[in-house]
Amino acid sequence: MDYQRVFNQAIDRLHAEGRYRVFIDILRTKGMFPNARCFAGHNGPKPITVWCSNDYLAMGQHPKVVEAMEEALHNVGAGSGGTRNIGGNTHYHIDLEAELADLHGKEAALLFTSGYISNEATLATLGKILPGCIIFSDELNHASMIAGIRNSGCEKQVWRHNDLAHLEELLAAADPEAPKLIAFESVYSMDGDIGPISEICDLADKYNALTYCDEVHAVGMYGPRGGGITDRDGVADRVTIIEGTLGKAFGVMGGYIAADSVIVDVIRSYAPGFIFTTSLSPVLVAGVLASVRHLKQSNVEREGQQAAAAYLKDCFAKAGLPVMPSVTHIVPLMVGDPVKAKKISDVLLAEYGVYVQPINFPTVPRGTERLRFTPGPQHSEEMMRDLTAALVEIWGRLEMKLAA
Ligand SMILES: *Cc1c(COP(=O)(O)O)cnc(C)c1O
Repeated sequence: MDYQRVFNQAIDRLHAEGRYRVFIDILRTKGMFPNARCFAGHNGPKPITVWCSNDYLAMGQHPKVVEAMEEALHNVGAGSGGTRNIGGNTHYHIDLEAELADLHGKEAALLFTSGYISNEATLATLGKILPGCIIFSDELNHASMIAGIRNSGCEKQVWRHNDLAHLEELLAAADPEAPKLIAFESVYSMDGDIGPISEICDLADKYNALTYCDEVHAVGMYGPRGGGITDRDGVADRVTIIEGTLGKAFGVMGGYIAADSVIVDVIRSYAPGFIFTTSLSPVLVAGVLASVRHLKQSNVEREGQQAAAAYLKDCFAKAGLPVMPSVTHIVPLMVGDPVKAKKISDVLLAEYGVYVQPINFPTVPRGTERLRFTPGPQHSEEMMRDLTAALVEIWGRLEMKLAA
């Protein structure tokens, strides 16, 4: 076996399809978001504006968050010291779990080292605990949910995205006695649409199923206290398990679930991805605590983000750019071709100092490659007008059509 050749061919395939991923080399400057410095292929760092960060509300630089982390580092040092079971259970972890349970109006919450792991570990474990469980999964669910469902070893039924009739058809056809779990997201991060949560819960009631909602792209940003779409729509009590990240709108790192205490106890006791790994650094947890507490009582960031997203969608639409019909803070621009999406992104960075990463398969289906903008409270209207003008120029240069 010529190992070298196999590895090289694997990489070559990605190049040939135009979806070889290049990670940009940048540094943000605290207090200056969305301005940053780019180190890739230039003489010295070049100033850029970041348009695709998932630190949606710039909480990663919020003075309260930074101060809390500095203080924790100063007081207790860097790491947690081990797994939650052996040496890594700190008062910060306990406090944050209580804060997150309260955020979602649940009895308990459980921290993981990332949102990915929280999805993978929880779904895999639930599926193993419930004998003969069938998991009903929205077709656009995140890779981490898909991994968890696969690792659960359960039967999986995929329903067409947000299609309640299809979901009901599958539920009705399944064994009435089998345990069932419906897994879906609130905000879908690539299209910016929202799952019909309360209708899904109606079906769950009718067919005696549990519900699992990934609120990763909603926590911190929706609801009067930042509890996500379930908070905004007053349906958190109807969803069995709410999952979220601490790395996107909360600006730091980590993931969690919130649910009844017995479910949390089961995951805590059985999930390898929770048990056999060093817990989050108390420094990170202290930062998240400050962030969650701040966003529970401040709406300024949420309002600024919604205003920016509305303004950018409007700029794009008026310029005839193919902005997708998002109902959230996510502003996707359809390109439909991986090579062109990469080209536009390269020109934006090299000539306009604009950083927006192209989104390719498998993150989105082939033929729907796009640019995904995440404007926030720190992006000014002037920046958005300049961005629109740059895109219109590039669209013309690449001979792509603008709507009339
Ligand atoms: C990013 C993401 C995750 C994973 O969260 P991390 O904290 O980044 O690991 C889970 N679900 C969705 C929908 C995501 O976009």
